[in-house]
Amino acid sequence: MARLYEESVRDIMNRPGEMREREIDIVVPDRFGEALASIPEGEKLSLDVRLESVHEGILVSATVRSTMHAECGRCLRDFTAPFEVEFQELFAYTPTEADEYGVHGDHVDLEPPLRDAVVLALPFQPVCRPDCPGLDPESGELRDAEAAMATNVDVDPRWAALADFKAVESLGSGVPESESN
Ligand SMILES: [Zn+2]
Repeated sequence: MARLYEESVRDIMNRPGEMREREIDIVVPDRFGEALASIPEGEKLSLDVRLESVHEGILVSATVRSTMHAECGRCLRDFTAPFEVEFQELFAYTPTEADEYGVHGDHVDLEPPLRDAVVLALPFQPVCRPDCPGLDPESGELRDAEAAMATNVDVDPRWAALADFKAVESLGSGVPESESN
């Protein structure tokens, strides 16, 4: 499966100024991310990759899009949301430092920088929506009626985007205070 990430650069090697763009779809072979948010096995990663030949090696710039699966850090619900991250990495012909990536034969292995970029970009404290009120510490229920209604709605990425939009709209009007007796 690792070979899926390997990209041949034979046509642009040692030809500074040459550039090639590629779209690559990958099915995640094993889970990316260990915490509340992850890209699980079987999820699709879509990469827009630009490979540029420079004097030292191959400069790889990539935009990665996928669907993040997460548990909300406030209300503990599972949800999915669109995920996107970019990374840029130089693959040197002659790596000079231990942590530098190299061109192997006539290809580059995108897997290590891809995995690093994705894992670093996954939120440490994911929230199902920016204004998720969380759980009432006493009852364990969601804090307000609006949030309670939302538990019956699957959090589809399109709804999550709408929630973002609403949160921006209502900025300044204040977050409703939790009920207290
Ligand atoms: Zn939540």
